[in-house]
Amino acid sequence: MGRWVRGSFTGSGLRVVLVATALAMLGGSCAFIDVSVLSSDAYDGRANNTAGSVLAQDYLIDVLTPIASGANTGAADPWRQTFAGGTNVVAVIPGTDLADEYVMIGAHYDHLGSACDQLEPSDTVCNGATDNATGVAAVLAVARHLANPANAPRRSVLLTFWDREEDGLLGSTAYVADPLVPLADTLAYINFDIQGANLLPSLRNYSFAIASETGGPAFEAAVKSAVESQPLQSQRLSSIFGQGRSDYAVLIGAGVPSVFFTDANGPCYHTTGDDLSVVDFGKLDQQMKIAIELSTGLVDGSVTPTFDGSAPVATYADAVALEAIIAESLADLDLFSPADQATVQAFANTIDGIVTDGEAAFGSDDLGPLLGGASAVVSILATGECDGFLPPPSGQLDVLTYNVAGLPEVLSGGSPAVNTPLIAPLLNDFDVVLLQESWRTPVPNTLDPLRVYHEILEAGSTHSFQSVPAPLPLGNDPSRPTAQFSDGLNRFTNLDSTAVTRSAWTSCNGVADGASDCLAFKGFSMSTLTLAEGVTVEVANLHAEAGGGAADEAVRVQNYVEPAAAINALPADSPLIVGGDFNLHGDDPVDAAVLATFLSATSLTDACAALVCGDTDRIDRVLYRSSADLAFTPLSWEADGTTTFVDGSGTPLSDHLPIHVVLDWQVAEG
Ligand SMILES: [Zn+2]
Repeated sequence: MGRWVRGSFTGSGLRVVLVATALAMLGGSCAFIDVSVLSSDAYDGRANNTAGSVLAQDYLIDVLTPIASGANTGAADPWRQTFAGGTNVVAVIPGTDLADEYVMIGAHYDHLGSACDQLEPSDTVCNGATDNATGVAAVLAVARHLANPANAPRRSVLLTFWDREEDGLLGSTAYVADPLVPLADTLAYINFDIQGANLLPSLRNYSFAIASETGGPAFEAAVKSAVESQPLQSQRLSSIFGQGRSDYAVLIGAGVPSVFFTDANGPCYHTTGDDLSVVDFGKLDQQMKIAIELSTGLVDGSVTPTFDGSAPVATYADAVALEAIIAESLADLDLFSPADQATVQAFANTIDGIVTDGEAAFGSDDLGPLLGGASAVVSILATGECDGFLPPPSGQLDVLTYNVAGLPEVLSGGSPAVNTPLIAPLLNDFDVVLLQESWRTPVPNTLDPLRVYHEILEAGSTHSFQSVPAPLPLGNDPSRPTAQFSDGLNRFTNLDSTAVTRSAWTSCNGVADGASDCLAFKGFSMSTLTLAEGVTVEVANLHAEAGGGAADEAVRVQNYVEPAAAINALPADSPLIVGGDFNLHGDDPVDAAVLATFLSATSLTDACAALVCGDTDRIDRVLYRSSADLAFTPLSWEADGTTTFVDGSGTPLSDHLPIHVVLDWQVAEG
């Protein structure tokens, strides 16, 4: 797969998209803000005893002040615990009825200043985004959760943000030498160091939960249950595999049961490339949920760890967990040098042999190969070119197509004067709203006392994009003097959109008969929507000729030739969404043939048919087409006639039901 050119990722436009995408993904979580602040250049790499370090301490205290108290109550500043060359930030959320028992949750906030591998001459700041702004964000996520009165902990929660971890675990070492609450009352320590990071593209869905055996079977079971609450594969490994490389090792040395959540050292480790652009916020979101899940059982008293320093150094279960990871990583073997490839492959073979021999055969002779091989592979994983290996963009799109029956009240099949104000706010729940029969009243209104209603929908819409309605011809267009109305096609969306282009059908049938289509310029409209940076989809909205006579059918056949031609004039392999009022009944053989011809000419799929919605006769439709780069998968189809789009007596708000389709979208790898 392609690698990022780091320099290209600093444009402000792209950064705005990144911010917006991450915020959307995190659903308003604070983690994105925490990580972006702590890893910003202003914090200058957060080296101990620097202005940047003080900024980081102040940020933590600002966040903690409304939700916790300083834990160093004997000091002038209860938030800080100073020691030789550094400052830990320490806070407590008091427990209710088990307040003398403590659960410690922590991460180091310090980093290397400018003392790391410099990848570009212009960038001297070691931002430490995944080492360890993300770990700090995980602790803060747990703290925010437990500070909610609904989640009030029974046990007290000690929040520890270590300094000088990067100098040899000195902050946590200073703490255990001078603990703020008795270590004997500290039932467990949950440590986060390097979160939201990917070792390889093939290992995006992998993480590690290390050393839970130090808390005995109850703690191990709680960690297992917490990690299994998310799709992320957090492999549980014995303490030795953490190589003593974070503060958990100090707490274990002090007899506190600990678990170490980490993504291990990838290719950006201790380089200037470890900045916001390499953070996998989707992964971090899962890790924070795991942290909250684990902390819940610990703080409510249902899980009581007991320190166990007697567990075996490594177990058969370690071999099974490592085998799974190594097997996945072989997919990315070509990222490494031939010599390193041979080392990884050799370890894969060794570990396969150990696993195949079975648990009963696992013994001390397996320890050397297991530990040595794992150590060698970890070193190799940190060698490649710095890359976040972030997943390609993906998301879900709520598409609504709705014929709102917006002709003047006396002509409409619905009751638009009463119902349009009811419809307006309901549209805001959808990412893409395709409207038919929605016209804007002219100003001044020469139709008076008649009017149309689109301006009511426009006023109620909070979408960032609203199409500019086509003006009403009102009989003044010489090409169709019978036409009073324009196409009635409008759209609202929260996605970036190009201006809408409109094409009227070249023919129509009927003025006082044949469904009176010649009273309007019906047709189709198109615009290009942006799903993510560089990811666009063409979206069409159409309203076909109505009526069931032979002349209507003939016009309808011609109708569908026209958008098919427009679609086929798009660049090859363009992804596409088409919604609208098709006036094609799936149960009518003539209509079904017209639809089939259109689908075949455009390679579109009807979402209703794909989902076996059972209502293919319905004339309102949403069609989609994937491309090689962008895959659409329909997740749901609904024609809402009973719940939301109804009035106070349960009657639908239009003579058509709105069709709501949820499309999953996924950009292809590479
Ligand atoms: Zn670290």
